[in-house]
Amino acid sequence: MTRRALISVSDKTGIEDFARALAERGWELLSTGGTLAALRAAGIPATAVSDVTGFPEILDGRVKTLHPAIHGGILARREEGHLAQLAEHGLGPIDLVCVNLYPFRETVARGAGFEEATENIDIGGPAMIRAAAKNHAGVLVLVDPADYGLALVDEVSQADRRRLAAKAFRHTSDYDAAISAYLEGADGAGTAGAGETLPEHLTLNLSRVAEVRYGENPHQPGAVYRLGAERGPVLDARVVSGKPMSFNNYADADAAWALAQELAAQEDQPAGTRAVCVAVKHANPCGVAVANTVQAAWEQARDADTLSVFGGVVAVSRPVDLAAAQSMRGTFLEVLIAPEVTPEAVEWFAAKKPDLRVLVADLAAHPGTLDVRPLAGGFAVQRRDTRPWDDLCPEVVTDRPPTEQEWLDLRFAWAVVKHARSNAVVLAKDGVTVGLGAGAVSRIWAAERAVANAGERARGAVLASEAFFPFDDVVRLAAGAGVTAVLQPGGAKRDPEVIAAANELGLSMVFTGSRHFRH
Ligand code: 5GP
Repeated sequence: MTRRALISVSDKTGIEDFARALAERGWELLSTGGTLAALRAAGIPATAVSDVTGFPEILDGRVKTLHPAIHGGILARREEGHLAQLAEHGLGPIDLVCVNLYPFRETVARGAGFEEATENIDIGGPAMIRAAAKNHAGVLVLVDPADYGLALVDEVSQADRRRLAAKAFRHTSDYDAAISAYLEGADGAGTAGAGETLPEHLTLNLSRVAEVRYGENPHQPGAVYRLGAERGPVLDARVVSGKPMSFNNYADADAAWALAQELAAQEDQPAGTRAVCVAVKHANPCGVAVANTVQAAWEQARDADTLSVFGGVVAVSRPVDLAAAQSMRGTFLEVLIAPEVTPEAVEWFAAKKPDLRVLVADLAAHPGTLDVRPLAGGFAVQRRDTRPWDDLCPEVVTDRPPTEQEWLDLRFAWAVVKHARSNAVVLAKDGVTVGLGAGAVSRIWAAERAVANAGERARGAVLASEAFFPFDDVVRLAAGAGVTAVLQPGGAKRDPEVIAAANELGLSMVFTGSRHFRH
């Protein structure tokens, strides 16, 4: 008996060659409107599904294949009873279903409106895919052009049939997840941030955006995925020179760029002319500076901690020209990420630092809405901490208010400490970090690290902490090292003691009312 294949695809990649090969092997091809036209235009004989059903496509294609002549042919078990029933109704079996779905994700991603998105919810396609996958013992189901070759053998093994069926259900389930995420409003930039809660059924459909050689360590496999229709400046960045990105490069570049974006937005406030440079090591900032040129910002960020920047990831907020590129000559860096890199600089990097990954990313891009933390067997999801300085109501709690320069440095240090791992304390002066203590298990240790790191540079610096001080010890340590102003959320039981110590030591202190843990 002639075998019958139903082909109905939105993504027509590879379909002509595949259909031709099937036809040459004696298959009868059944097809829907657009696919049928494509096959016939290529000179491949095919039967219209509407000729099989005796019913035209209706409702603008909403109903094409939803008919017993199609679903009976797919779902009948290959055994006497079911085949006799088909024959009784004048129907024939369908042995292969090759379907991929209306491009729902792509439609949403290009910003289509609700109606167009809705029309791109495929109904008949998933029904056929699921029917064929259910009946995979007798029906081959193909949802991916990469698998077409598998069908061109005399006998497809049961193991392959089952694998294709599993893939088919994954395909329809990802598809439905994308639709439900869209309807819940968790699919696109900005939407999850708009409400105060995350959707109860957050559907996390993932698409792989990059292969990496391995995960955090060589014995761990890894890959980089996009969550739903989220945009991400680093996920969307272009590598213009250097080796492929590694797992850790992605993580560090993401951390560096997020802080560069935040500081650039601050710097843009009156003048918009200054350059930000952020050096990150193991997801923590290790040197951050704001200066008049990229080169100056880089040199100050580097000199903030010449030891830690080695092997680091550097983000800058303005174009990297040849002079800036050349100023990076003496430092081993993993990644450089910038809004623009001049052709001469790219050429120089390719010749002189061929291993350095140079990325071009959008400084104004939405930073993404969701933040995911791994848990064994799952993960915790939250809205990203994108609260800007302008959302805060900083309150001066000491007798002495900060000077104008101290305010600028406090705001700068606040952004840096917000992007450091808790517990974190940052010392800064004149738009440069001079001491950083991050990822400490006690606050005083974070402060001690930052103060030790700063050494003499602590004199006249400001200090920022991402969470409150449980005791007055940090204030006493800071004042002893020469720090003049302190910023922290406040809210501790012993705030009165902490404020009294600051007044006693002549410090100025600001409460932001906003904690910024980052683990
Ligand atoms: P074509 O380009 O051949 O006109 O349409 C192919 C698309 O139609 C495929 O993506 C397939 O999943 C989808 N499709 C097939 N049958 C139906 C149906 O009955 N209803 C809907 N909404 N989509 C269908």
